Amino acid sequence: VALIVQKFGGTSVASIEQIKNVAQKIKQAKLAGDDIVVVASAMAGITDQLINLSRQVANIEDMSQMQEYDSIIATGEKVSCGLIALALQAEGIKARSWQGWQIPINTDEAFSKGRISQIDTSELTKALANDEVPVITGFQGVNNNRIVTLGRGGSDTSAAAIAAALNADRCDIYTDVDGIFTADPNIVKTARKLSSISYQHILELASSGARVLHPRAIEIAYKYKINLRVLSTFNNNDGTMLLHDDSVIEQHQITGIAFDPKITVIQIQDVENSQAVQSAIYNEFLNFAIKPIVYNSSEHNISFVIHDTDASNAVKVLTALDINHKIIHEVSLISLVGIGVKSDPSILQQVFSILKAEGISTLLLTNSEIKISFVIPSQQVHNVVNKLHDTFCV
Ligand code: ASP
Ligand code: MG
Repeated sequence: VALIVQKFGGTSVASIEQIKNVAQKIKQAKLAGDDIVVVASAMAGITDQLINLSRQVANIEDMSQMQEYDSIIATGEKVSCGLIALALQAEGIKARSWQGWQIPINTDEAFSKGRISQIDTSELTKALANDEVPVITGFQGVNNNRIVTLGRGGSDTSAAAIAAALNADRCDIYTDVDGIFTADPNIVKTARKLSSISYQHILELASSGARVLHPRAIEIAYKYKINLRVLSTFNNNDGTMLLHDDSVIEQHQITGIAFDPKITVIQIQDVENSQAVQSAIYNEFLNFAIKPIVYNSSEHNISFVIHDTDASNAVKVLTALDINHKIIHEVSLISLVGIGVKSDPSILQQVFSILKAEGISTLLLTNSEIKISFVIPSQQVHNVVNKLHDTFCV
């Protein structure tokens, strides 16, 4: 008997009809003889509605507001999981829903972007021994008797962490596309589905804005050596397997291209001692849990890319430290990930020539062994991603 964690995203449980379809999928896997643990997101659109309701009442800035906010926005998962459990029961499968605090899934106290610290598996083990399917709310855990959410898209992370805690044989992430693609198939028509991808590359793509998996889920699955697969709820295709070893045969120098339109650039110019200034900023950023996505510094200049949602706190920090800075909005980060970045220096030159042909100058560019990232004005991003994909991924 294998133990499989099946995670269903919001679009997979968007209606009662789809919840019944999901229940059929779970039932098939269960009747095939495996132990199944289900993790689900809220029905599509619900979390957005709950966030919107909260923000109509308060700005959600101080701790007590954050605590209520998390308690509100975690309720969508309660509904979808209860419905899945009911649909399974109607099919003659023993099932019950579990909320994060009931298990419990313990987190730190970073409300709205919590990290799971520990999961008690005793109740789940009992349920499995009793031939039950536990249906667990994704996206949430508990700290000091308060509900903590894990950040948007965090149900993937719940699933990976539960798979790790239970030492599951596999974690299947069911979604509305066939797997992981070379680029967002909604924007790039020629995007290809990858049958497998290395952890290193998917982690770089996901943390650069590819919305296919929550980055923390990849880190956990990598660390605990989970077999993780991304596949569609709506067909029986194979999906994309995440691979731990180097057995991925890279046919292209660039594995994939990601972009993130929800970023802000901060530039600090003419600083005396850029190292000291940076360390002061980073210390303060830690207090606000702000993590720059990309940064660049020279002797007298510092610039970094942060998530839009961190921009107001970043400004607070810089103002408090009395640091002159410039904020640039309406920009996007494009990232190319692949082995070619390291092995073929002409890639960077080709990127520059594409940008030049489009008349675009980048605000900031960095490259590492396997990634090139740069910032351009948002209105050009779809066009440039398509041009890059045509050049490197087709
Ligand atoms: N329902 C949450 C969200 O919309 C978590 C998730 O879908 O993974 O962000
Ligand atoms: Mg998701």
